[in-house]
Amino acid sequence: MVIRELKDWHKEYKRPLIISGPCSVETEKQLRESVLPILDKVDFVRGGIWKPRTRPGNFEGNGEKALQWVANMKRETPFKFAMEVATPEHVELAMKYDVDLLWIGARTTVNPFNVAELAEALQGASIPVLVKNPIHAELSLWKGALERFSKAGVENLGAIHRGFHSYQKSKYRNIPLWQVPLDLKSEFPELPLICDPSHIAGQTELVPDIAQRALDLNYDGLMIEAHCQPQLAWSDAAQQIPSEELGLLLDGLLLRDAAFTKENIISQLEIIREQIDQADREILEAINLRMNLVEKIGEYKKENNVAIFQLSRWKSIFNSRQEWAEQLNLDKDFVVDILRLLHQQSVKTQTEVFNQKEEKNLSSND
Ligand code: PEP
Ligand code: MN
Repeated sequence: MVIRELKDWHKEYKRPLIISGPCSVETEKQLRESVLPILDKVDFVRGGIWKPRTRPGNFEGNGEKALQWVANMKRETPFKFAMEVATPEHVELAMKYDVDLLWIGARTTVNPFNVAELAEALQGASIPVLVKNPIHAELSLWKGALERFSKAGVENLGAIHRGFHSYQKSKYRNIPLWQVPLDLKSEFPELPLICDPSHIAGQTELVPDIAQRALDLNYDGLMIEAHCQPQLAWSDAAQQIPSEELGLLLDGLLLRDAAFTKENIISQLEIIREQIDQADREILEAINLRMNLVEKIGEYKKENNVAIFQLSRWKSIFNSRQEWAEQLNLDKDFVVDILRLLHQQSVKTQTEVFNQKEEKNLSSND
C-alpha cells in the first residue's frame, strides 16, 4: 500500500490535525452558527450531508441543499470542508461542490461491495479519504477498505478510530478497544490515525479524556462533533460539544513527547485494565447465560421426574472441559476448580427450582 504521511497531503499540518463541526448540517443558520466560532481552531470543518441512521424515521440529512449552504458560506469565509460519502452519487456531488476531504462511515467500511463501488468512483482521486473503523472489531475489514482505496490510486489516505459496537452495556457508546487501531498503526506506521472521541463517548463529558488518551498514544489528529446548540441537535445531541467550547477543550489537551514517557506507560496500563474489565464482564455474562439454562433444565427435569444429578453427564462435562482447557492452554486444575464451583451452584439452583415447584403445587392443592 502506498501511504503518504499527513504532512505530505496537508501542508499546514501541525499535530494534532483538528476536524470539527456538527454531526449533521441541519439548516443554513445552524451551519453558520456552529462553524463560525471554531473556524480559527480547525483544519477541516465537518458536517453530515447524508446521515446513516440505524432506525428509520430519524433525520437523514439534507443532501445537495446542504452542500449549497456550505458552498455559500465558503465563498464568504473560506474553509476546508469534510463529509461522509456512502455511495458513488455522494462522491459525484462532493466533487461538484469541491469538498476538501471525505470519510467513509463505520457502516460502510463493513461492506466490501459498498467500498469497492466507492473506490471505483474515487479512482485516482487526490482528495484525502479517511476510513472509519468498521462497526465491529474486525481489523481485516478496516485494512481491506484501505487497500481497496489504495489500489484505486487514492494515495492521501488515513484512518479514523470511532470505537466499536458492543451488545453489552458500557459507559461508552462505542467501546474504544485501543488495541485494534494500534495494531493497524504498527502495520502501517505512516498511515495518519485520527481519533473520533465523540462517537466513542456518546456523551460530551467523556470527550476530553478520550481525546487526551488518543494524543498520549501519538494519534495524528482528532475529529470532534461541535454544534451551536447541542441540546437541540437533530442527530447525536448528547455527544456534541457547544462550538464555543471547542477552544477550551483543545487548550486543555496536553501534547506529550511521542517518546516513551511515564504518562504513556500509565495510559498503556489503563488500556490493558480496560480490556480486563471487558473480559470480566464477558465472563459474568456467560455465567449468567449458563445459570439461566440450568434453571430451564431444572424445570424440565422436575416436570419429567428426572434426578438433578447424573453421574454420567457430570463425568462427560468434566472430561470435555479438561480437553477444552488443554486446547486453550489453560491450567487444568484451575479449570477443574472453576467447574466444581459452577456445578455446585447449578445443583443448588436446580434444587431451588424443584422446591419452588413443590411449594407451588402444595399451595395449589389447598
Ligand atoms: C458521523 O461521523 O457522524 C457518523 C455517522 O459516524 P460513524 O460512521 O462513526 O457512526
Ligand atoms: Mn454523529
